[in-house]
Amino acid sequence: KLFDQNVLSVSAPVTGNYTTYGYVLIHLPISEIANSQSHILDILYMTCAIIFGLSLIILVVFTITVYLPLRKIAAGANEYAAGNLNYRIKVKTHDEMGYLSNTLNYMSDELNKMEEYQRNFIANVSHDFRSPLTSIKGYLEAILDGTIPPEKQERYLRIVLEESQRLSRLAEGIVDMSRAQDSKIVLEETDFDLNEIIRENCAVLEPQMEEKGMRIEVSFAAKETMVHADQDKISRVLHNLMNNAVKFSKEGGVIEVETTFSGKNKILVSVKDHGSGISEEDQKYIFDRFYKVDSTRNKDKTGAGLGLSIVREFIQAHGETVAVKSKLGEGSTFLFTLKLAK
Ligand code: ADP
Repeated sequence: KLFDQNVLSVSAPVTGNYTTYGYVLIHLPISEIANSQSHILDILYMTCAIIFGLSLIILVVFTITVYLPLRKIAAGANEYAAGNLNYRIKVKTHDEMGYLSNTLNYMSDELNKMEEYQRNFIANVSHDFRSPLTSIKGYLEAILDGTIPPEKQERYLRIVLEESQRLSRLAEGIVDMSRAQDSKIVLEETDFDLNEIIRENCAVLEPQMEEKGMRIEVSFAAKETMVHADQDKISRVLHNLMNNAVKFSKEGGVIEVETTFSGKNKILVSVKDHGSGISEEDQKYIFDRFYKVDSTRNKDKTGAGLGLSIVREFIQAHGETVAVKSKLGEGSTFLFTLKLAK
């Protein structure tokens, strides 16, 4: 026995010129091979363990950052679908998941607002219909059962007539609004003299102002101010603003209508009154459809809360802006801009 342990032998002949000179023999103990083999296996096992560990970490991270937030978001979406719009998705991370949940929360807020708007809308419309109907019914009953003597009937029948006219105005207003909602407002823009339109509107309001002993002061930026806009719509805007100014002024009050050049090619129109004024809280909503300030709701019987929403829609259709400056008890100023003609 040449070796005292098992060896792996490899032999190779050394040849040349068709003769064999000798052999090269290499022996490696088997134990050595087994040693290095177990070393290689160790490395393999280690690698596997590291890969497994990393996968586990990735899985945990994925679960925390993606799976759990997604489950919360899905739960939120289900709540919204079931009609619970007050539900808040509580994912506060600063990544896509947080962004998605913020967006969904925002969506539910907006839907909530829409729902509230619709509830208010229906409440306002039914209130506006109910009060004239109640007084019509009351007067007619009183006439029929003789509570109102025949000689006074004419006066009360006139009130009934006024109330029914108010009802039809209200119905017309609603039809107008829904039409404006269905189809976009189409502008027929031309060049015209704004001063002329303001003068016309002053004339229209004269009887109303005379009745309240009121005065109007007009101040034009120039003798003639040519603007580029839809004449009928701007006339309606002016009428609504000036009509409100008269309506919400005290007896003997003054209204000021003023135009001033603003910037390069704009004109600023202001309609100012010294009447009841509007609180800051109400200023946020007066341009909304059917919105009437609570204190005017019962006193003012002619309006339906549509005048200013029409003003805003018409001015915005021109790509211009309308704003209000007002202080309760001191009066209000409504301002809007128009493009000057080229
Ligand atoms: P309405 O047709 O009922 O007048 P508007 O949309 O024109 O409705 O106005 C909405 C509400 O804004 C009014 O009910 C009133 O309370 C308030 N308002 C509008 N203009 C004035 C003003 N010049 N002074 C005080 N309050 C005003």
